[in-house]
Amino acid sequence: MQPPMRNERPAAPGRPVTAFVPGAAVPPPPGAPSPFAASGPFVHPAAAAPPPFGAAPPAAMGGYRGPPPPQGPFGTVPPSQGPFAAAPPPQGPFASAPPPQAPFTSAPPPQGPFASAPPPQGPFTSGPPPQGPFATGPPPQGPFAVTPAPFRPPLSSLSQPQSPTGGATPPPPSYVRPPPPVQSQPPPMQGYYPGAPPPNPQFPMLRPGFQQPMQTMPAPPMGPAAAFGNQAAYPSSGPPVGGALQSLVEDFQSLSLSSVPGSLDSGVDLKGLPRPLDGDEEPIKVLEAYPLNCHPRYFRLTTHAIPASQSLVSRWHLPLGAVIHPLAESPDGEEVPVINFGTAGVIRCRRCRTYINPYATFADAGRKWRCNLCTLLNDVPGEYFCALDASGRRYDTDQRPELSKGTVEFVAPTEYMVRPPMPPSYFFLIDVSVSAVRSGLLEVVAKTIKSCLDELAGFPRTQIGFLTFDSTLHFHNFKSSLSQPQMMVVADLDDVFLPLPDDLLVNLVDSRHVVESFLDSLPNMFHDNVNVESALGPALKAAFMVMSQIGGKLLVFQSTLPSLGIGRLRLRGDDVRAYGTDKEHSLRVPEDPFYKQMAAEFTKNQIAVDIFSFSEKYSDIASLGSLAKYTGGQVYHYPSLQAATHGDKLKHELNRDLTREIAWESVMRIRCGKGIRFTTYHGHFMLRSTDLLALPAVDSDKAFAMQLSLEETLMTTQTVYFQVALLYTSSSGERRIRVHTAAAPVVTDLSEMYRQADTGAIVSLLGRIAVENSLADKLDSVRQQLQLKLVRSLKEYRNLYVVQHRIGGRLIYPESLRFLPLYILAICKSLALRGGYADVSLDERCAAGFSMMILPVKKLLNFIYPSLYRIDEALTMEPDRIDGSLKRLPLTMQCLDTGGVYLLDDGFTFLVWLGRMLPPELVNNILGVSLANFPDLSKIQLRECGNEYSRNFMKILRILREKDPSYYQLCRVVRQGEQPREGFLLLSNLVEDQMAGTSSYVDWILQIHRQTQS
Ligand SMILES: [Zn+2]
Repeated sequence: MQPPMRNERPAAPGRPVTAFVPGAAVPPPPGAPSPFAASGPFVHPAAAAPPPFGAAPPAAMGGYRGPPPPQGPFGTVPPSQGPFAAAPPPQGPFASAPPPQAPFTSAPPPQGPFASAPPPQGPFTSGPPPQGPFATGPPPQGPFAVTPAPFRPPLSSLSQPQSPTGGATPPPPSYVRPPPPVQSQPPPMQGYYPGAPPPNPQFPMLRPGFQQPMQTMPAPPMGPAAAFGNQAAYPSSGPPVGGALQSLVEDFQSLSLSSVPGSLDSGVDLKGLPRPLDGDEEPIKVLEAYPLNCHPRYFRLTTHAIPASQSLVSRWHLPLGAVIHPLAESPDGEEVPVINFGTAGVIRCRRCRTYINPYATFADAGRKWRCNLCTLLNDVPGEYFCALDASGRRYDTDQRPELSKGTVEFVAPTEYMVRPPMPPSYFFLIDVSVSAVRSGLLEVVAKTIKSCLDELAGFPRTQIGFLTFDSTLHFHNFKSSLSQPQMMVVADLDDVFLPLPDDLLVNLVDSRHVVESFLDSLPNMFHDNVNVESALGPALKAAFMVMSQIGGKLLVFQSTLPSLGIGRLRLRGDDVRAYGTDKEHSLRVPEDPFYKQMAAEFTKNQIAVDIFSFSEKYSDIASLGSLAKYTGGQVYHYPSLQAATHGDKLKHELNRDLTREIAWESVMRIRCGKGIRFTTYHGHFMLRSTDLLALPAVDSDKAFAMQLSLEETLMTTQTVYFQVALLYTSSSGERRIRVHTAAAPVVTDLSEMYRQADTGAIVSLLGRIAVENSLADKLDSVRQQLQLKLVRSLKEYRNLYVVQHRIGGRLIYPESLRFLPLYILAICKSLALRGGYADVSLDERCAAGFSMMILPVKKLLNFIYPSLYRIDEALTMEPDRIDGSLKRLPLTMQCLDTGGVYLLDDGFTFLVWLGRMLPPELVNNILGVSLANFPDLSKIQLRECGNEYSRNFMKILRILREKDPSYYQLCRVVRQGEQPREGFLLLSNLVEDQMAGTSSYVDWILQIHRQTQS
């Protein structure tokens, strides 16, 4: 049946279709069949509300009761490979779809995989909700397939404790705390699961003692970088402390802030200030206490100690929540095990839909399993049965990844699909107005896409298409029987229609030669174009019509402000009258609701939008970016791109975007145990119901953050469980569910919350919330809110300890949060939030904000507190000795020696700073030209030259880029004292220094200290 396709119809006689190439527009056959009838949302959240929690029977404590019942034959299938581990083998069209029929044919219709959702709301409501596969009735009999998933050794190698100051300091002595107050309720799973966490686990604490002497520190030397050479913020050789005193002083760090009377010295030891020079510290120690948890690279809580009461929550002051990076790449190449339950179906809790996981327990001689999230006792399907040993553990636990690993992937059967998995498709929307032509970007884009054709996901099913536009829309016919593409121009922008029913989005294999011919000719096709207009809105509508049946990725290349048709925007970014007023924030949100409405339509049809913006003038990133924001996409901003200078960055980032592994047609839900719930979500997605994140496409470069709240005044459990489930289509066309499970203790002690705090997760969540707040408030107010949170938190902490120690003149803080004050200062000074209108262009600010919403923890921390290295010594080394192990320096001018070469890396850009006293020969060798003949360094493009300095220099850049390929750092060069470039390129990134209207790190610490005492 032909679905209604709005606005799509054959080109009627007299319609303004212009054929540029012989063999013009072909009218579509009437009633052309649609390949897929359903184009609605992919997954239906069930309408049925889950039954109330708490009615579950008590845990049956049945242990081993006799000989194990005979086991069914266990067929095995070849191990399937995780789609994020390596490229899947090529498959025929729809080779893997659809899987065999679900086993419960007589049961009620299957329920959606994310069935605990409240009724669907808003624009995404669709048809009657199907029901789940887990109806009551006799368990099915028969053999089932087990996929022996690719296993890797446990993560023991990752569990090494780290010294807070890195390798420079020997690890401080470990020490065991006295147990926290024991809660009265017996642990629900006692004795049943050897690997389960103890009720109140003792974290092995590796924390330096209270070692800072109380006397005033000498004034910091204001010399060159050497002064910061060896950080000694946390000396490990403090006075021996023991007994009760130790247990108290062990908990915190402090900074002396008392000044010498009559002296101008602030009393702060500049060298002693804590600095995150080792970057992100993944909380891997969690895995020591909870070895069954997923790795923290996938899931991190802001504190790995969930407060038991509302009063504790209110005293915490920092955000309570999590950061999720569902498809994080594992650096050690470890593969995620893939499990196929075969006819047993995916094993899930009947009530809350939790997937079976290592924290589930078994009872009734193995015939029942208890859900760790809602405590319901579920039947074990006959095919999945296994006897229990004397301790109540299944004999096959170690052989089953889903019972022994925190991260697994399930092969999803047909009930997890409402249509066959779609082929991966890429549609390119390219602005070819005069600014795009002049910048040279068409050539970079065309060449890059052509070079990626072999690597696009989903061979041989991949679909591809292009639409170019200026003041008109240019459709391109890629029919495989053509020798070159045909272009059809549509000038009617008010009532957009497709001039062809097919062949605008084509199979790449069949039409490869036509596509290549198009890409070869694209740069020249518009070479003489002088059209300044841009009809982006109508072009988006046309792209939607082409893609709506299949979904996929839409890549938009925009070079100017959209000026024609629906969605045209005005030059509001120049309106300085709004700055500093109550309307200031309105410049940072989309002006025209068209973009958000369009984004909603895209998401509904499984289309993710990436925006590549190049304008030299204001292009309203705030509006354009909302297309990416609500579709799980990404915003790339290349202000004033000139292909000759900046082309490499575009080339690499477009290549990454096209060749990274993608999870298509995705939805994500995070379940958590009784008593808590996730309340807000922060990142790029569309919320489909109260807790279902719709992600038309998601990849390893995207992370999400969310806040938690307590549902009840008091938590009665001792452990809380979390489960992240991402249902997606792999590029090879298989439906998969990636599941991460984690447990965390419930605590009644505020100091334990501080002890288990994770600064990286806190900063990720705070940064995202701050960016969102800046869309509704003045920048200044947003920064004040951040400061207030920090002050309240440290004040609360101070109250815990100051009485016992009678500490005056010292800022005290938990060891776990020692970098938090600096990171919050860094958020306030970030591109997205710093200063006022004169400090950052509106587009640049908005683009930085969009990036901060998706960055994984490690990248976000490096973005707001960039890495600074001195590299001139390495330039003269033997090339073999250059391994990228450069020492990071504090971000202050005092580190910069006039005789040095420094490199600042924020993950997006490299900045090379050349000291004034450098020998000209060294500078000329790096630049490849004589500096005297090349006064404008903004135009320089560094290439490897035939000398040792240049070769080593380029090798350093290469090594740093390879460490994280998600963005490409374009290299800019600035000389010491070269204004204004030095100011906005370097000085504005020296987070620890005072800038116009901002505090230095020392002043910031003094301010925070004063406020915590008031
Ligand atoms: Zn449950």
